[in-house]
Amino acid sequence: MLEPAWISHPDEVDAKVAQWSADHGDIFLAESKTQFAGRPVWALTVTDRSVDDAGKAKAMFFKPHAHEPAPIAAQMNVISQLLTGRTLDGQPSEFDNERVLRECQLVFMPDANPDGTARAPVEAWDGSKYSNDEFWCWMRGEDPETGEMWKRVDIFDDREEENLPERIGIVYEQIDEHHWVEPNRHHSSTLFRWIFELLDRHEHWDQALSLHQTEFVNSPHNAMMILPCLFDEQPPEIQRYEREWAEEIVAAWSELEGAHPCEEVRPLGYTGQQRQYFVERWGDLYHRLHIITSEIQNNSPRTPPALQQRLNEVAIRTGIERLLAGP
Ligand SMILES: [Zn+2]
Repeated sequence: MLEPAWISHPDEVDAKVAQWSADHGDIFLAESKTQFAGRPVWALTVTDRSVDDAGKAKAMFFKPHAHEPAPIAAQMNVISQLLTGRTLDGQPSEFDNERVLRECQLVFMPDANPDGTARAPVEAWDGSKYSNDEFWCWMRGEDPETGEMWKRVDIFDDREEENLPERIGIVYEQIDEHHWVEPNRHHSSTLFRWIFELLDRHEHWDQALSLHQTEFVNSPHNAMMILPCLFDEQPPEIQRYEREWAEEIVAAWSELEGAHPCEEVRPLGYTGQQRQYFVERWGDLYHRLHIITSEIQNNSPRTPPALQQRLNEVAIRTGIERLLAGP
């Protein structure tokens, strides 16, 4: 049973965005790109639009993967607080709203692949209905030969795959009649099209937070912060900011009941092809902006949906507090 503060289904997100646009146009701007499957991919700007943007601290938050819904629910609840002074279930805002709106320009992309999200069989993965193996077959599709999770690729053409799953994994975004991409691994995704457009709008961005979930199989932890895979090659100023920011999030998580964050903050540990995707698609960006990744446990009774959402909210809140504190 999901809490009343949880909104993640694209139909509900769209309805809430329409309501906020009608009620809070002075501090909220909703822009969308329509993905091939027809759903809007929102970039939601939250700021006092009567104050010049030039002096504002700027941050973007995004959620690439459709099988990881908690970051949608978290972003929607944070936006609700900033616009209405209340969480989606009526609790008072934990932000100094006026100051955040005046001093920051925040852009939320709550769901980079709403078609994928809408294809999921559940709105939250709580570990009660699907084993991880079943969950992973929803994520990438089920290989008809092996019965196991299909492969992880940046892009594929559904005419050229021999063992194409009967049901395409929800992590993939369809970008034309026959091509599908993993949103954070190919520049043709709606996610990347948005990121490049946002980067073009301003010379300087203070933060980009990539919000994710993973299963933490055989790990005592249920939350972790990850630095870019090319962290060691980033300029020292970027390294310093990213490490401090990530460590602040870990410290904030430690205050939460049920949170077992990994204390150590490390660069993404991928090797081989998966690392290569990040080097090729993100490498240039790592030299331009402070970008870190959060991972919250998914599909486990150890981390129920309300806690998944809360951990994501605290990660977002910690970044906003850092924006207010100055560079
Ligand atoms: Zn992810």
